[in-house]
Amino acid sequence: MEYNIGDIVKTKKKHPCGSYTWEIIGVGVIFKLKCTNCSHILVIDRQKAKKIITKKI
Ligand SMILES: [Zn+2]
Repeated sequence: MEYNIGDIVKTKKKHPCGSYTWEIIGVGVIFKLKCTNCSHILVIDRQKAKKIITKKI
């Protein structure tokens, strides 16, 4: 699956704030995801991101 900045994605695990959805704000070797509920920013490597993302919304 291809991901682009601005995509909203769902993850397997929920964020402590209760949200499962994230906005992609950075793609590349490192992915940056912003929680759509609390705006927390998660920085993870691409491989890990692909494992935790279940689908695009
Ligand atoms: Zn959150």
